[in-house]
Amino acid sequence: MNEKKQFRAIKGTRDITPPDSALWNWFERTARDTFESFNFREIRLPIFEETSLFARSVGGETDIVSKEMYTFADRSSSATPEGAPADPGDLISLRPEATASTMRAYIEHGMHALPGNVKLYYIGPMFRRERPQKGRYRQFYQIGAEVLGSSDAPAIDAEVIEMLMLFFQRVGLTRTTLYINSIGDKNCRPAYVELLRAELQKVKEQLGADSQRRIDTNPLRVLDSKVPHEQEIIAKLPRIADHLCDACKENYAGLKRELALRGITYEENWRLVRGLDYYTRTTFEVIAEGLGSQNAVCGGGRYDGLVELLGGQPTKGIGFAIGSDRSILSIQESGNLPQLPGLDVFVAWMGMDTYPTAVKIARSLRDAGFDVELPAEEMKFKKLLNLADRLGARYALIIGSDEVASGTFTLKRLSDADQKKLNEANLLETLRSERRGTRA
Ligand code: ATP
Ligand code: MG
Repeated sequence: MNEKKQFRAIKGTRDITPPDSALWNWFERTARDTFESFNFREIRLPIFEETSLFARSVGGETDIVSKEMYTFADRSSSATPEGAPADPGDLISLRPEATASTMRAYIEHGMHALPGNVKLYYIGPMFRRERPQKGRYRQFYQIGAEVLGSSDAPAIDAEVIEMLMLFFQRVGLTRTTLYINSIGDKNCRPAYVELLRAELQKVKEQLGADSQRRIDTNPLRVLDSKVPHEQEIIAKLPRIADHLCDACKENYAGLKRELALRGITYEENWRLVRGLDYYTRTTFEVIAEGLGSQNAVCGGGRYDGLVELLGGQPTKGIGFAIGSDRSILSIQESGNLPQLPGLDVFVAWMGMDTYPTAVKIARSLRDAGFDVELPAEEMKFKKLLNLADRLGARYALIIGSDEVASGTFTLKRLSDADQKKLNEANLLETLRSERRGTRA
């Protein structure tokens, strides 16, 4: 068999190629700039961790841990004798989310000793073995932020949400809805969950198989059901807002006050529960238009107690994770795309005698910060200009024997064929002032 195999990206993964990669870079750069202006700093984390870290924090009963993780036995780190079968070491998993890793790092590096609240953000791929569809991939990308410390002041929650919504505004993701809820804490939620379970038992026969199973495993998740015939039943279930303890009630009222102070509009959604076990009190989600049913672009909430659960000191925490794939898809579908700088100058040199000048000026332009394409081989004038055009260059810099003899260049603007003869200093000045004009 000599057929050549055509390799393709694995199902649920994809390549992000130019020009989309420029959009992605801009999206991530805007996140960095926005988050750093709130004094968040980046943490770079490993892509795999011990499986038990996720089981413990995300929760063994969640879909993420029970069905969706890529888990494998690492080979033992101690040398295996030759010929002996590899000793399966500990189980490790590709990270399905990064809050667990952030907590692990926070504890491992004793970050509780740092002054003030510890404000971290991360950017990178996550892995979940879900059914691939529009806006749902097996390797997808998140941008997340976390605040850790001793305080659970509602102003922290509100500032995190303010930062998130400011970022969405800056990337032109404006047709969004922010939902908030409070899901109580360890003092009031257990009683509510029992109440919910008891009420669900009464209507069990009317529910679908998934919801029936969740009555036992995780009754809160039933509230999240999208099954049409269950909606009427769910609408009549007891609401957590009516069962919050005084401290949670006060915290939730404080959050709403703090959001109002920042001019942030939101909708309360009593059915907003998050799929991860570690959330307490504030939970929130942002949905965007144009995405069909995969419309959540960010999920977040408070997770007081998570650090302690992982063996650290009692610590309060709150964070969110933005889904980059869906956010970018939504921006693309809205047509609200930024003007990203592209190729500035195509150096159209003609004749080997002009080549040294072309190499030199290409370097000067690159040093001055322009994106420059320098053809590697001699080409005919027509072909040069045709290529410059197809590459989307803003200018062709024409260098022929005449130009070399007179120490000038011909700068041709490709949008309107306007043409100027300039020396090097004037050339740089012209390009600079033009850039100021278009990028101001
Ligand atoms: P969903 O209900 O859409 O499955 P989720 O509750 O699993 O979302 P989180 O775990 O909170 O989502 O992750 C935060 C964000 O990451 C989501 O709002 C979404 O934008 C994105 N996300 C989650 N899973 C995927 C995926 N498989 N592919 C692409 N984006 C994803
Ligand atoms: Mg999910």
